[in-house]
Amino acid sequence: MQIGFIGLGKMGHPMARRLIEAGHTLVVFDTRGDATAPLVALGAQLASSPRDVADRVETVMASLPEPHIVASVATGDSGVINGKRIKRFVDLSTTGSRAAADIAAQLAKKDIAQIDSPVSGGVAGAVKGTLAVMVSGPQADIDVVKDALGVFGTVFVIGNQPGMAQTMKLANNFLSATAMAATSEAVVMGVKAGLDPAIMIDVINAGSGRNTASTGKFPNAILPRTFDAGFATALMLKDVRLCLAEAKAAGVPTDMMGMVASLWERVASEIGADKDFTTIIQPVERRAGVIVGKV
Ligand code: NAD
Repeated sequence: MQIGFIGLGKMGHPMARRLIEAGHTLVVFDTRGDATAPLVALGAQLASSPRDVADRVETVMASLPEPHIVASVATGDSGVINGKRIKRFVDLSTTGSRAAADIAAQLAKKDIAQIDSPVSGGVAGAVKGTLAVMVSGPQADIDVVKDALGVFGTVFVIGNQPGMAQTMKLANNFLSATAMAATSEAVVMGVKAGLDPAIMIDVINAGSGRNTASTGKFPNAILPRTFDAGFATALMLKDVRLCLAEAKAAGVPTDMMGMVASLWERVASEIGADKDFTTIIQPVERRAGVIVGKV
């Protein structure tokens, strides 16, 4: 099918490439020319704005960093809302349920359906097509895009109300953020006591402490000290803040979320929001006076 794709960053680029490889025809836009060039080389057509994308195709996907950017791409003056052909906007970004519902309501005034489709599984999952793809929105539009979304991984239809898939995604990322925070403190404690962090990770992964940080981020990016998982601290902090706000608005307990959020705030202020999120271990190491992994 013909698909517009806006936002060709760490996640958008491999997802757009998989769509082309699966035989779809793409119209692409990104504010960075160096982001669109590799897709154009693979046969994608280049558009000059989100509106231009939406002038050319019925289905527009977006993978953008922050909720306010998604809002401007969707409903700004040169946003997809003013496109001539668009029928549905598929948002692959993590924005939280309130932002998704706001955008859905504005697009609905122009008879454009919004499908929330946040993804989980990281850059590696986007490259391999093994993401968890969470979807909510009008069923008829989900039916139109389900096969194309299947190129990214396993599609889970969460519900038909706008924002439901976003709530699912925030719950998932809170757990991922918590695994990173808790595993960092556990491993730093062991290293300070003289334990070998590689043996610790092997034991945790053979035992009941196993989690996504211990199986993925620690062996691949923290122990080798490459800090290159491909997800910025700014984006994880955004997700944790959104989750905390959503949980507070829902009136549910947030004890764990509050503690985890405060550690991510510290990572952003002490290490840098632009750094990879695997640098979460560094403020813990600083306070403990030890380094985990190779130096
Ligand atoms: P990224 O910063 O690498 O990519 C974002 C892209 O959007 C960039 O190429 C940027 O130039 C482009 N962009 C910014 N403003 C734009 C605009 N106004 N119009 C057009 N393009 C614009 O971010 P990412 O890591 O690919 O994440 C994208 C989304 O996916 C985020 O919402 C993130 O939370 C989510 N996500 C990321 C990961 C991950 O591991 N990186 C995993 C799951 C979900």
